[in-house]
Amino acid sequence: MSWIDFTGKIVVVTGGSGGIGRAMLDAFKALGATVVALDYRAEEAEAAAHAVGGYGFGCDVSDLRSVEAAADHIAKLGGADVLVNNAGILRPGPLEDLAIEDWQAMLKVNLDGCFLTAQSFGQQMISKGAGALVHVASISASQPQPFSGAYSPGKAGVAMLSRALAYEWGPKGVRSNVVSPGLVLTPMSEPFYANLEVKAARERRVPTGRIGTAQDMANTAVFLASARASYINGQEIVVDGGLSQT
Ligand code: NAD
Repeated sequence: MSWIDFTGKIVVVTGGSGGIGRAMLDAFKALGATVVALDYRAEEAEAAAHAVGGYGFGCDVSDLRSVEAAADHIAKLGGADVLVNNAGILRPGPLEDLAIEDWQAMLKVNLDGCFLTAQSFGQQMISKGAGALVHVASISASQPQPFSGAYSPGKAGVAMLSRALAYEWGPKGVRSNVVSPGLVLTPMSEPFYANLEVKAARERRVPTGRIGTAQDMANTAVFLASARASYINGQEIVVDGGLSQT
């Protein structure tokens, strides 16, 4: 058996067809889990899951009925043991020009979505008396970033939601922690890095000298979700190569 083992566990990854989501599926699958990808892009969720022998379902995390339908599917598989709350959107822009629709869309997916999925899948974990939540927030949760003025409050909310869940559900056997990425090359961030000068300038800002990978985030999430982290609850691990120290 490996040092970390998810054999017999059902791991649900929201935003499972995105950059970080796919790396999560790969990492948990490699450690023995049955993985389930949820994404509002149903076909992509199915394809991402099938690529690793898992299950994929269409699910809009910001819609209660959609989350409940996904929870019904997963209950039939045996119920979630781990939830990786990873689905997210970014609509960057300066606050003085930001449309209320963009503000609301980010809060709806990034914050409401985390609450709805945590509640639905958390109930499955509570009924088992064990489980782990890992929410993907951002360094923007605690530090303003360029053009992220409306993204940051939702991510800060996720970080606090996780602490509240840790407090309420710890006694029920369910832990809740956060992975906060810095700069990561994924479809979400690709437009920023298309300009190689911008990419190089960003790399120079990171003390470890590189942009992060989706795998870096997944490595941290598998540890936090594992039995090896059974005494870690309500914490945030910033995975940014030291960027937030500059
Ligand atoms: P991505 O765009 O590749 O993946 C996001 C996924 O979420 C996509 O598959 C998308 O279809 C899905 N999604 C969006 N809205 C949804 C909804 N309503 N319901 C279900 N699924 C939905 O981006 P990524 O970089 O892999 O981002 C993953 C997470 O990491 C996000 O929460 C993001 O905010 C966070 N993050 C990313 C970076 C970065 O630099 N890439 C940095 C900090 C935090």
